[in-house]
Amino acid sequence: MARYAMLIDMTRCIGCDACTVACKQENGTPVDTFFARVINIEAGKYPAVKRFYLPILCNHCDDAPCLKACPNKAIFRRDDGIVLIDQDRCKGTGACVSACPYGNVYLQKVDRWYLEDDMEYETKHVRPRLKENVARKCTYCAHRVDKGLDPACVVACPTTARIFGDLEDDHSAISRYIVEEAIGTGREPFHLLPECKTNPATCYLGPMSEQETATLHGGTEEAFVGIGVTEIARPAVHATRPMSVLKKVDATGLLTESLSLFKKAFIRITSLLGLTLLVAAVAMGQGPKTDVFSTSNCVGCHGAAAMGGLGPPLAKTKITDAEFQAIVRKGKGMMPAFSADALSDSDLNSIRDEVRLKPWLPDQVPLTYKIGSLLTPQKLSIYFLFVFGFAFLFGLKVLWYWVDCTGIRQARPYLRKFGTGKAALIALRAMIVDGFLVASLFRRSPLRWFMHGLILYGFCGLMLADILIAIYNPMRAELPLGSALKVLPLVSGLAVFIGILYVKYRYQKDEFIDNGVTLGRDFLFVNLLFHTILSGFFVFFLARLGGSAWILTIYLYHLSSITLLIATAPFTRFSHAWVVPALVAVTRGTEALTESGVEIGYRREPSPGRHHKTDRIARQVVDLVDPVKAKTIVIRYYP
Ligand code: SF4
Ligand code: SF4
Repeated sequence: MARYAMLIDMTRCIGCDACTVACKQENGTPVDTFFARVINIEAGKYPAVKRFYLPILCNHCDDAPCLKACPNKAIFRRDDGIVLIDQDRCKGTGACVSACPYGNVYLQKVDRWYLEDDMEYETKHVRPRLKENVARKCTYCAHRVDKGLDPACVVACPTTARIFGDLEDDHSAISRYIVEEAIGTGREPFHLLPECKTNPATCYLGPMSEQETATLHGGTEEAFVGIGVTEIARPAVHATRPMSVLKKVDATGLLTESLSLFKKAFIRITSLLGLTLLVAAVAMGQGPKTDVFSTSNCVGCHGAAAMGGLGPPLAKTKITDAEFQAIVRKGKGMMPAFSADALSDSDLNSIRDEVRLKPWLPDQVPLTYKIGSLLTPQKLSIYFLFVFGFAFLFGLKVLWYWVDCTGIRQARPYLRKFGTGKAALIALRAMIVDGFLVASLFRRSPLRWFMHGLILYGFCGLMLADILIAIYNPMRAELPLGSALKVLPLVSGLAVFIGILYVKYRYQKDEFIDNGVTLGRDFLFVNLLFHTILSGFFVFFLARLGGSAWILTIYLYHLSSITLLIATAPFTRFSHAWVVPALVAVTRGTEALTESGVEIGYRREPSPGRHHKTDRIARQVVDLVDPVKAKTIVIRYYP
């Protein structure tokens, strides 16, 4: 499988911007939009001054944040590694604009064009190529690559500073160039902003500021004679992008296939299990309609043999004498009913008193009782507090990764000029409108918004119910069905459940719902939700139907699902719930910032944040290639 990449040799770049123009011509991009741009960096102080030219374009990252952030699954990665935006699926949400750490995604509401409206060529042939109000970026000229041609910028470059090709092919121009330079000049390719862990395909060879050797293949041809390219230990790009990573496409394909098989088997088995449990619950629905679980941890599993059916769990619960007698008389779980003839009231009471007073050896206490005693509301609260703490810390870490991608730290000086409070209000508004109200989805598809809302607001209802129960019913005592504390979680759970069924349905029908990268995590997320809610309903109905023998098992299954859901949330699609609104908020904030002219000095910028992201890249690259001069750098110009 091919892995296309571009190598940019900074030594060769003369900053002529032929690539910039060729790209505009090839892709018909409007004014202000530059898929290929060249930064002019002046570094050092007179007389020790140096000019660097740094061409920048989409890196077609292996772990592309833009792709992961897109809530519409409009960004996808081809098998050959080219990352593309589906213009039909993109709805202009803008999360990718902030997510790309390099400022390579462009999104503007209204395009400005170079020629007048009556210029037939532009209106007929240029403008229709790019849809309005959707995100755009460099495509590595995929339409040319598919025909076996090089990208337009590569063809236009008069100094061959851009080398494009397949990294998987040892004989491709790019692979040979990397090896030649490593041998001939000792230069190793580097990536921009490695701390963002995007694993880019575009890589750079830095200038040889202190080097005497000629740059153009100095001595390398001899080095190749008789050695054979494939026998040379592959340095450079392959050192930073190991072959295992480059071959990830195959591994991903295999993983995707295995996951899909696993998914089918998992859904079938668990659905069968769920149905069986439901049938069993209905079949057993003869017992008293009390919530035994809430008043006692006993599930009746100790059987008739233990203490004449009155084994330690039941006898030691806090239930009243009358409740205790009712259970004994009617039987419960595996314990048979004892009539007054078989066991008089006084005998019953004396057995119970004896059991209560008797210290029990650990091996005399049934396992179910031991487990049940661990599941008190107080202990569960502490347990979930720890799980939440873990998830919260990881959630913060995840959020920090994205915040770092947005380059918000580099934007601080501009934010201060713009007004931090004003920017925060704009961001807050975006969080509410785009995050909580999911306005962009509503505009696109009210049905999907409704289904999405069922999950989102259903979750809010469940969380609210949890808080209210902790306050008003901490011991989880049995409540009438009409009680608000019963209705709220039931209705909320039902809403979430319907939403999940819809998403599961879409997984079957919509081939674009997953772009391949998040398949495993999305699958985990949706199924964990499904199992959490399903098991929650089972616990409720089993309790009402008196199927006490099953309750502990199902309850443990429910608790395990919740635990996994919380603990894995930062790694699953659930993270979209906070990451996407945060990214959109940053996009809106930086939009306002650039529109005010504070950041870039003029008011038009279709890739908000590009300015301070460019600044970050420039500083880092100069620091890498010439640390002394990096102390004083000025970006003189970039398109
Ligand atoms: Fe996406 Fe930016 Fe990486 Fe290109 S450089 S793939 S736009 S994150
Ligand atoms: Fe540099 Fe080549 Fe682009 Fe000119 S065309 S700016 S030399 S990369």
